[in-house]
Amino acid sequence: MNQSAVPDVSPGTLEVVPLGGLGEFGMNMMAVSWEDTTILIDAGVMFPDPDQLGVDLIIPDLTYVEARGNKVKALILTHGHEDHIGAVPHVLDRFEGPVYGTAMTLALIVPKLEEHGIDPGDRLKTVKPRDTIVVGPLSVEFIRVTHSMPDCVALAITSPAGTIVHTGDFKIDQTPIDGEHFDLHRFAELGARGVLALFADSTNVDRKGFTGPEIEVIDAFEELFTSTEGKLVVALFSSSIYRMQLLVDLAVQFERKVAFVGRSIVRNAEIAQRLGFLRVPAGIQIRDADVPEYASQDVLCLATGSQGEPQAALSRISIDDHRFVHVGEDDTVVFSARAIPGNEKAIARTMSHIARRGADVVTDSMKHVHVSGHGSVEELKLMLSLVRPRYFVPIHGEYRQLAQHARIAKQVMSGREPRLQVLLAQDGDIVQFDARGARIADKAPAGRVLIDVTRIGEVGDEVLRDRRHLAADGVVIAVVAIGRQSGSLIGEPELVARGFVFGEEQESAMFKDASGVITECIASSSVEERADQGLMTEKLRGELRRFFKKRSGRRPLVLPVLMEI
Ligand SMILES: [Zn+2]
Ligand SMILES: [Zn+2]
Repeated sequence: MNQSAVPDVSPGTLEVVPLGGLGEFGMNMMAVSWEDTTILIDAGVMFPDPDQLGVDLIIPDLTYVEARGNKVKALILTHGHEDHIGAVPHVLDRFEGPVYGTAMTLALIVPKLEEHGIDPGDRLKTVKPRDTIVVGPLSVEFIRVTHSMPDCVALAITSPAGTIVHTGDFKIDQTPIDGEHFDLHRFAELGARGVLALFADSTNVDRKGFTGPEIEVIDAFEELFTSTEGKLVVALFSSSIYRMQLLVDLAVQFERKVAFVGRSIVRNAEIAQRLGFLRVPAGIQIRDADVPEYASQDVLCLATGSQGEPQAALSRISIDDHRFVHVGEDDTVVFSARAIPGNEKAIARTMSHIARRGADVVTDSMKHVHVSGHGSVEELKLMLSLVRPRYFVPIHGEYRQLAQHARIAKQVMSGREPRLQVLLAQDGDIVQFDARGARIADKAPAGRVLIDVTRIGEVGDEVLRDRRHLAADGVVIAVVAIGRQSGSLIGEPELVARGFVFGEEQESAMFKDASGVITECIASSSVEERADQGLMTEKLRGELRRFFKKRSGRRPLVLPVLMEI
């Protein structure tokens, strides 16, 4: 869509445009504008379905941001989860202003920017809860909320039209592990003063009651520490700092050493320790390379890979392909995370691999080893009661969840004055607030942009998988047939290219060699690797990308298609 498709902000009007996260899970982003000032709230990613081959990340369409041009003055972040900060490297060069976030949030962004070769200069501005910053006619106050990681905030944005509250992600944890409490008082004060509109997290709207506090999982883990005779391996999100703290404390109590296993968890644990959000007593932490030196009953491994990601530590461990960490009989592997929809198959495969090693597999359906970071319906009601908004816009969720949250809001607010009005918005809807009221007035361009991150070559080399890219470097599809029983290659791999500009002869020679690369890659893989389609697809993709880059200097989009025959 061209820029003329984005209408100017009407004078005297507060305009809010959700650019992601309303109608899907992930890639949360929102633009808030008053006349010539636009601020962005969050810039998240969404992870692709396993069948979206060749796509590594999904970010919001940034056409609207580009159209607002130099009117975009700042990016404000609520917390450090990927679905809120993952797209920051892609957004940073679309505007010039500062990025505001708490210490933990900004610390998690720094390595991302480094990976992309971006130097933020002095653009990252650290804020604390109850701080207020001013951006032109808008002021933004940060309010502490509790969630599954430290240093999370909600926002109260005050404009000439009134104050809007954006909750970010939250649950109401009354016994937070770091002692930093949900700022119920501030929400209540804002509510008493009068709030124009509330934008609230809908992720867990279909769960009844209250979500438990983070400490709720201690009992189950105490049992596991007691009963496990060998190594204890816990897979969790690398951002689950509270869970890490709780497990480190138990390790101290049960006299086990702690090894962080996997790149992102090592990095995040380091960041959290540096900022004081994770406290590991001296002598407790060991490197993954040290694990073989300890008796298995003396070790706790905290590993990445709770979603069955083929490249993550747990996947390597599960097929006994990790350099230092091996599991077997007497060991227990705990999945301390929920399955993100779409990952169930990959997770189940990883579990089967682990079971084949003889280790016990424990999930949150067997023991209470995971608790959500999002508020259930009673917490969502409490937020509405505290803030008492005039207008309500459910955010963060699929359409059915937004609609359910709307229904609940009407229940909570019935009989109150002024009457609540719900605006059920979706990505791209232009929500206007002015003297006459509020409405969904128009539609701005919004959608998804698929990102193909090239894992080889220089860091930060990434390519927007758009038409220009395809035209320049093309696409190569490799169809590979594998025997269901043997796991070995059947026939010759078939390669098809589009927009990969070479002479016929050159192409057929290159494809012959590429075919050799595939044969070699499969032959050199273990039987277990071969039985894992997701893992083999990743492996082939990497090998072929490397091959084409070397041979042609190009980076075509490589899509291996594995067929079991
Ligand atoms: Zn979150
Ligand atoms: Zn989120």
